Amino acid sequence: MKEVLRACKKCKLLTVERNCPIHGEEKTTEEWSGFVLISEPTESVIAQKASIRMPGMYAIKVRM
Ligand SMILES: [Zn+2]
Repeated sequence: MKEVLRACKKCKLLTVERNCPIHGEEKTTEEWSGFVLISEPTESVIAQKASIRMPGMYAIKVRM
């Protein structure tokens, strides 16, 4: 079975779960494109712009 990556609509974190592991209630969506890998959120300009605090893969665009 192929695992489809989904993105949280709130924080854009990519996950295979249907709900965001950070936001719990927040649904994830398959409607996203592009991604960045953030390994050190405190040192990344992209992470600071997007207020990302957890390392991980994040979608660049998420359809709301
Ligand atoms: Zn989230």
